[in-house]
Amino acid sequence: MDKLERLGLRVPILPTTAVGSYPKFPYLLEARRKFLQGNLSREELLELERKATRDWIELQQEIGLDVLVDGEMYRGDMVTYFAENMDGFVLSGLVRSYGNRYYRKPVIVGEVRWTGPITVDWWKFAQSLTEKPVKGMVTGPYTMMDWSFNEYYPSRRDACLALADAIHREVAELWRSGAKIIQIDEPAISARPEELDLAIEAMRRVVEGIDAYFIVHVCYGDFESIYPKMLELPVDNIDLEMSNSSLDLVELFRKHPFTKDISFGVVDVHSHAVEDVGLIEERIGRALEVIRPENLWIDPDCGLKTRSVQEAIGKLKNMVTAVRRIRERLDG
Ligand SMILES: [Zn+2]
Repeated sequence: MDKLERLGLRVPILPTTAVGSYPKFPYLLEARRKFLQGNLSREELLELERKATRDWIELQQEIGLDVLVDGEMYRGDMVTYFAENMDGFVLSGLVRSYGNRYYRKPVIVGEVRWTGPITVDWWKFAQSLTEKPVKGMVTGPYTMMDWSFNEYYPSRRDACLALADAIHREVAELWRSGAKIIQIDEPAISARPEELDLAIEAMRRVVEGIDAYFIVHVCYGDFESIYPKMLELPVDNIDLEMSNSSLDLVELFRKHPFTKDISFGVVDVHSHAVEDVGLIEERIGRALEVIRPENLWIDPDCGLKTRSVQEAIGKLKNMVTAVRRIRERLDG
């Protein structure tokens, strides 16, 4: 926690946070539908996205989280959102993702360039509503590259490093605006162990020269083949889906100690069931077998956007209660 203190951030032991996305409220889903049909103006939609952001900031404060997120009420897909707001991309026709879900995949057709702030106004807005720190949140270059078609750069590496330079500009702008905790979402890192070196190189470009506390979120995947090498990511904190893998990684951490702070996922974001406090306490207990309390953050496994608002609130509330009980025990 030394770096947080140096940056002037005060958080309790075992800080609680969220990974990024929250479910959209029914009024916002309705508004997005109307907007797509041409029955709502961009301004009207924006006003409701701001209302939803305000609602989530209030809910997070009520629940008692320590480090907040803006909830990503203004985003559809995490890669498409950034691609739409940079030079060099177009969107493909509908592509099948999994099951019967279709979406438009970004296509790199020219030089990728950052042309101006993408998330900065949202961060400033969210931070203006609370005394607690709000994380700056961007999608990482490796995932941007991996989830797009590349029709311009000669190699995946070239595309990835160009994206790293663009994302660096966004991160620098967040930092200049006052964001002290910045999270880079790299869900794709765990899917291709053979490209981990590239992801690390790209991350170095993203964070270069910026004195913020950096978190990288990596989704569930082939952790066994990227650990311990993933510890070379030049960030302060790695945020991992732990519950989804029945905490298998804890055994890996026994063999190769975790050398950074960790945001340890304690609730499953794919399940409707709200985990009870006892189960979450047990999971935190497992984390404490291998991680020192001062290096441990607690959060859900991943973004909560696919859950209902009530499920998301239930999971966060129980998580906060479990953490408070553990803190009392650590105090005693
Ligand atoms: Zn994830």
